[in-house]
Amino acid sequence: MSSNQTSQSHRRFDPLFGDWVIFAPTRETRPNDYDRKNLSKLSPDACPFCIGQEFKTPPSLWVGKASDSTLSSEQRETSEQVLCHEKWRVRVFRNRYPAIAIEKNHAPEHNQLQIFSNAVISGGHEVIVDTRSHTDRMCETSITESRLLLRAIRDRIAWWHRQKDIKYVSVFKNCGASAGASLHHSHCQLIATNHFPKQTQTLFNRSRSFTNKTGYCLLCKQIDSELADRSRIIYQGKRLTAYCPYASRFPMQVRIAPRNHHAQFEESTSDTLDEVAMLIRRSVLALQQIHPFIAYNLIFSNLPPKRKKQERSFHWSIDLCPRPSSIAGFEIATGNMINCVLPEKAAELYESQFNLQRID
Ligand SMILES: [Zn+2]
Ligand SMILES: [Zn+2]
Repeated sequence: MSSNQTSQSHRRFDPLFGDWVIFAPTRETRPNDYDRKNLSKLSPDACPFCIGQEFKTPPSLWVGKASDSTLSSEQRETSEQVLCHEKWRVRVFRNRYPAIAIEKNHAPEHNQLQIFSNAVISGGHEVIVDTRSHTDRMCETSITESRLLLRAIRDRIAWWHRQKDIKYVSVFKNCGASAGASLHHSHCQLIATNHFPKQTQTLFNRSRSFTNKTGYCLLCKQIDSELADRSRIIYQGKRLTAYCPYASRFPMQVRIAPRNHHAQFEESTSDTLDEVAMLIRRSVLALQQIHPFIAYNLIFSNLPPKRKKQERSFHWSIDLCPRPSSIAGFEIATGNMINCVLPEKAAELYESQFNLQRID
């Protein structure tokens, strides 16, 4: 790989752990609201995600609006077609500092012993601004914006799944500095790549082998077992279930998943999306009542494109992963998480908050 190529995103193979590391040198220059010297920049005037500041970001690819309770959205195939709606509630655009940008796919380069193996990584990196309000607090955003956010995620996943060479689409939210956020204004991100991550491969292999052995979907069985046990269930609705998983990797972790088997999030009905929006809000608001300024990630787990054959063994889900502290030495050394809150206790705390909530 030439020095010119190393300035673009690429992946390098780590032969000791048998996994790839993504390098994205352009992201080093991105703005960071959480940097101490930038604290004065937390005002809406300096925020590229605020209303009236749209010119500071690449053109919108998806725009969601609402009038009364009616939601509407527009999607564009290319960034040349600029959408400019002053009344936007949620909008999507390409990340100005992408971890992964659209590049021509190159064959991986290996040296003789595969000590220095690398490959260009291609795909896209998008920002989904999920509220007009200059806030990172979900209680200061509206349910309408959350309903639009879920539609934006559905439409952008479906768009990327139609693109050639895309093997994986990751959707996530980083809220708070210790969860990896660099800008304060609430937003989600989508990264689509030609690279199939090892952790997802492990999840796939385990799900497939469970289905081959038992005939059942692994997550369906986990939900059935949690519903039978009841000690970690925090919500059971018409379409969705929420629980603190038995082996939660993070303290106060919540998993939201459809009660019946569904592999593809992008095929969700509007009713399901509305229930997801409500449940994410209830979970985050409950978490912030218990730990007012805690950072968290939301992680979407979905059937990747061109994997129809695995539809029977894969079940979409969304994990709320609170981040009271950074990953520490033991976790880095061993890959084993240490969780200091039992999920049974976490479920009790969520349940008591759910009981106090006014449902909007
Ligand atoms: Zn803002
Ligand atoms: Zn299932």
